[in-house]
Amino acid sequence: MSVLTAQGLSKIYNSKGNIVCTALDDIDLHIEDGEFVGVMGPSGSGKTTLLHLLAAMDRPTSGRIEINGIDPSKLSDKKLALFRRRELGFIFQDFNLLEALTIKENIILPLVLEGADPILIEERLRPLAEWLQIAPLLKKRTYEVSGGQKQRAAIARALINAPSLVLADELTGNLDSKSAKDVMESLKALNERLKATVLMVTHDPFSASYCQRIVFIKDGRIFSEIRRGSNRQAFFQQILDVLSVLGGNFNDVPFARA
Ligand code: ADP
Ligand code: MG
Repeated sequence: MSVLTAQGLSKIYNSKGNIVCTALDDIDLHIEDGEFVGVMGPSGSGKTTLLHLLAAMDRPTSGRIEINGIDPSKLSDKKLALFRRRELGFIFQDFNLLEALTIKENIILPLVLEGADPILIEERLRPLAEWLQIAPLLKKRTYEVSGGQKQRAAIARALINAPSLVLADELTGNLDSKSAKDVMESLKALNERLKATVLMVTHDPFSASYCQRIVFIKDGRIFSEIRRGSNRQAFFQQILDVLSVLGGNFNDVPFARA
């Protein structure tokens, strides 16, 4: 089953009626239930714009989006807020955890906002915390844990109400390479165990090598797509090869890890 369908997606930024920038140009993207997909492309290629459109934080100039059979552009503001909370999970580069809350309170917040039964909340929380290896940290405040632990808490928060689609923007961007590896291994494990569907934007080829499929964009258009075989190291090399053909600026990220 298709979780996400985007067809003919374009985004033109205007200012005072003049076209400033064609950020996305006729993008088609389909994501199946349980897939783990990466989106890569040089700076300015349209990655963030794409994520904003899919998250219904911004509207496409043309084209159509369906997530779990729902077109978010057809929803009222109130229904859209519910749609985001129920159908989508978000993971951000800077974690977006609330400092006033404990790790547990941060993770369960989406369910608390739904008025969920405390027993159900515990049932959802326990396995996630175990799998993400943050069970001993649940009572701690966000400033008492490491960046990698924060991001694993943010992953738990994104998954706790079993969303149709998890959207992640540069989730390893603020992590050292050891923490990035832990976070990517956790996310991959959850994708496999829970069949969580994940779309992740990254410019880091190491993080991307955990995906099953990578869609490359350049100048707002799909450039190519590759699928991982059984070997992550080989996939990492394949990603580097495409990036070298793709050209452009990648903010001088270190490419030599894996
Ligand atoms: P990426 O995330 O891949 O670096 P973006 O989606 O942020 O790319 O940007 C794609 C293009 O759209 C860039 O050329 C950028 O300058 C332009 N752009 C992004 N946001 C706006 C905006 N609000 N107004 C005008 N141009 C924008
Ligand atoms: Mg961006």
